[in-house]
Amino acid sequence: MLIDIKDIAREGTLIERVMTIGTLRGSGNEPIPTGVTRVRALLSRGSRGVDFSCRVESSLTLECARCLEPYEMPVSSDFHLVFVSRMPAHGTENQLEEEDCELYPVSEGKVDLPEVLREQLYLSIPLKPLCREDCCGLCPRCGINRNIASCDCEALGQNQVSSPSIVWLPRSPKQ
Ligand SMILES: [Zn+2]
Ligand SMILES: [Zn+2]
Repeated sequence: MLIDIKDIAREGTLIERVMTIGTLRGSGNEPIPTGVTRVRALLSRGSRGVDFSCRVESSLTLECARCLEPYEMPVSSDFHLVFVSRMPAHGTENQLEEEDCELYPVSEGKVDLPEVLREQLYLSIPLKPLCREDCCGLCPRCGINRNIASCDCEALGQNQVSSPSIVWLPRSPKQ
């Protein structure tokens, strides 16, 4: 869905949509499907460009870093962008950063809304995704998912460590 900057009303334009925005790509280029995405955005003309205040709610299907199972993570994010046709010279950039907004360059007066949303959702992907805080992960020995099954590897491993590997010979009578 493209937003044409020309169509933004003088008093501002409100966009409320339920849409699909497709699949994100993770840092390793792995696909991250998104769920139904709800958008509520207000566009208005500002002094520097078009102010875009947006709330997006969606879900991401991520792979748990411990048990490697896919799980769905709900996401909601409020963000503010300023759509500009040209990026300012470097000197003014720091000043704008302090104003808690981000300049977003727009080509030919049109904004690709799904692309903007995908970029924002990408920012909410955790560094280490976990299906739940206390995910038990996989057994490093047999690979079983310890959230749904148990194995004896740990107990066996401990026995191996504590069992004597050196056989002590009886002292000779000379000592
Ligand atoms: Zn997990
Ligand atoms: Zn095991």
